[in-house]
Amino acid sequence: MADENQNQCPFCAIAENKLPTVKIYEDNAVIAVLDIHPASKGHIVVFPKQHFSFLYELPNNILSQVFIVAKSLSSAAIEAFGATGVNIVYSMGASAGQRVPHVLVNIIPRYENDGIKVEWSNKEVSQDELADSFKKISSVMQKNTIETLKAIKEGKLKVPDEVKKQAEKLLSQVENKKETKTVNSLEEL
Ligand SMILES: [Zn+2]
Repeated sequence: MADENQNQCPFCAIAENKLPTVKIYEDNAVIAVLDIHPASKGHIVVFPKQHFSFLYELPNNILSQVFIVAKSLSSAAIEAFGATGVNIVYSMGASAGQRVPHVLVNIIPRYENDGIKVEWSNKEVSQDELADSFKKISSVMQKNTIETLKAIKEGKLKVPDEVKKQAEKLLSQVENKKETKTVNSLEEL
């Protein structure tokens, strides 16, 4: 997805062979390179060739391709470098540590006592807070599902006829509130 950042984006430049890198994997949609400032030996960065800023912008086929590559490179890193573990890290948004405007997945091979920290402290939470989080996330997911079903019904989202039929059926169930476990659970709260 082109935007004004694309021209300066270092990962777009890598995808267009305008920056020197150690490329270790490339297919029609995905590239993997060795990180030039690695967190550990064998740190790999996997990213889509096309410019997307955030994970939710990625079409599902590219998203799955990125993670299929991440999966095979993780196994390869363990075998190649004698790593004892791997962290697969994706960061969305500045507060999460996203530093570049291009979606990328870090594959960080881990070794005993490597000093790398990927951690958080576990907090206490009340049943009420859990119920509140459940309500909030369920209601957004339900809204998004309904939007998708409507888009299918209205032909804005192209799907096979069989899927369209199922979507229409599901949509009428939702609209009649006879729907899914999520709705039932919400009502039970
Ligand atoms: Zn880019």
